[in-house]
Amino acid sequence: MRFEEVAKAFSEIEKRSGRLEMTDLLARLFEKATPEEGERLSYIIQGELRPPYEGIDLGMGERFVLEAIRRASGYPERVVGQEFEKEGDLGIVAEKLLGKKRQQSLFQKSLSVLSVYNSMLKISRACGEGSQASKISRLVELYNNATPIGAKYITRFVLGQLRLGVGDPTVLDALSVSHEGDKSWREPIERAYNLCSDIGHVSRVFLEDPQKVKEFRIEVFKPIMPALAERLATPSEIIGKLGKCAVEYKYDGFRIAVHKKGERVEIYSRKLERMTAMFPDVVEAVKKLKPKEVIFEGEALAFNEEDKRFYSFQETMHRRRKYGLEKASRQYPLYLFAFDLHYLEGEDCTTIPYLDRRKKLESFLPHRIIQTSKMRIVEKAGEIDSLFQAALGMRLEGIMAKDLDAPYTAGKRKFAWIKLKKSYGKEMDTIDAVIVGYYRGKGSRTRFGFGGILVAVYNSDSSRFETIAKVGSGFTEEEMEKFQKMLDEDRVKRSPSNLDYEIEPDFWVHPRHVVEVAYDNITRSPTHTCGRKEGKGLALRFPRMIRIRDDKGPFNATTTKEVEEMHKFS
Ligand code: ATP
Repeated sequence: MRFEEVAKAFSEIEKRSGRLEMTDLLARLFEKATPEEGERLSYIIQGELRPPYEGIDLGMGERFVLEAIRRASGYPERVVGQEFEKEGDLGIVAEKLLGKKRQQSLFQKSLSVLSVYNSMLKISRACGEGSQASKISRLVELYNNATPIGAKYITRFVLGQLRLGVGDPTVLDALSVSHEGDKSWREPIERAYNLCSDIGHVSRVFLEDPQKVKEFRIEVFKPIMPALAERLATPSEIIGKLGKCAVEYKYDGFRIAVHKKGERVEIYSRKLERMTAMFPDVVEAVKKLKPKEVIFEGEALAFNEEDKRFYSFQETMHRRRKYGLEKASRQYPLYLFAFDLHYLEGEDCTTIPYLDRRKKLESFLPHRIIQTSKMRIVEKAGEIDSLFQAALGMRLEGIMAKDLDAPYTAGKRKFAWIKLKKSYGKEMDTIDAVIVGYYRGKGSRTRFGFGGILVAVYNSDSSRFETIAKVGSGFTEEEMEKFQKMLDEDRVKRSPSNLDYEIEPDFWVHPRHVVEVAYDNITRSPTHTCGRKEGKGLALRFPRMIRIRDDKGPFNATTTKEVEEMHKFS
């Protein structure tokens, strides 16, 4: 498959906002792709080269890309710089200047998807002395053989700015449509994806033989998509929904999945990144566990032995950064509260009921710093309330109620788990929103050049972001400086193509950073587009910045559906 064909499809996708049209365009590409091409294509569409837990970074900044464009196009540095100034997008600059190319390369060959992918993988793997020069040379070689439109998307890809606005669900739909003409294969494809979090791998398996996705199996060291909780406002609603259920403490720590096979142990974050080096204490304890092959998950947080209290996620991370891992491990020992089991000695446990998983988990825990989450089986709302109060007394966030018979709902937000948090009462409630733009500082803030952010939530039905608030308060001076710097780097000329908006910020940014925002209540407003009905969307009243959520990516932000639910409570 020629890369130009892919680039043309990308260009079409960028012009469309509807998910159905995007799905069809992608399905047409998958129809023509071999399994190997389909694998690479799926990674490229997501702006990746490999699954997130491999942590591959292309490592090319604008300066190096500018240099490659200069060399491939033959235009002087000044002209390339001026074009960049004018367009604000190096992809467009590459397309334009290579189109007018003065120096034709002698051996222009047509680029295939596989050759572009392989070159990019080599670029990402170049390291050590002279690696920047070799990265640039490889990019120049790609440019020499690329058509102008191909150069545009190669450029955006290496800069991490592809921004097609295609979420994973659309890719999964497109695979199904490419085979059957409809979404009938979506469910098994999605299940396979949720079990390995590797979209390229799933695409390849599916394109080789669709039946194989139905037999997909969990593998150690391929992280599973985390199950997510729904929320309800009161203990009686929970009993109304689940009846007899399990109630666990809800720990406000760092969610991790632990994978062990023999002597090897790896730890993955909620965002599926490999975080093993951050948790040497947990790794040591896991090595001593009885099972030879196991995957389980839990919440890691520090505990103060003296006053017998837990530290929150923020405090835990702050201490680990401040005192270094070793010292922090001694002074503020970390505990892992395991709450679910995915795999044990060759058995996929995600399909068995919660209570059976729990029993298996308890068969090898507690052990050293690894405990099981506190759990009780209850039948009455009053019992949930007592546990909830006890959790708050220990400075925990609240409780999680769990359906006794439910399987592990990887990657899905279901009523198999229901959260009840302290914030659902009169106190503050929060959402996790994606920054899509920011404002210049006014008045006393002029000196920071930063005046607040425009944030959006994710509509998982349409795969688009929808604005919900302009957040101007809750920032310390230090944070203002930090945000300014962070967002300046992400600034883009045009609004993100997958965003619905009514108001425009001073600067747009690529939707990437997730922040936790507190608010007083949710109201209807014509200014925002979240869950818009009859011209009015949902908006946060008195939004305040709480913290950056490094552990979440934009597609894990609060969804429009959740906001609609929360609107009912507020
Ligand atoms: P979400 O994970 O639902 O997108 P979030 O990360 O903001 O949202 P919460 O809404 O506070 O988290 O609640 C869900 C999270 O609670 C889980 O992702 C997990 O990290 C954490 N958690 C703490 N204790 C437990 C427990 N006992 N069982 C399951 N999850 C728990």
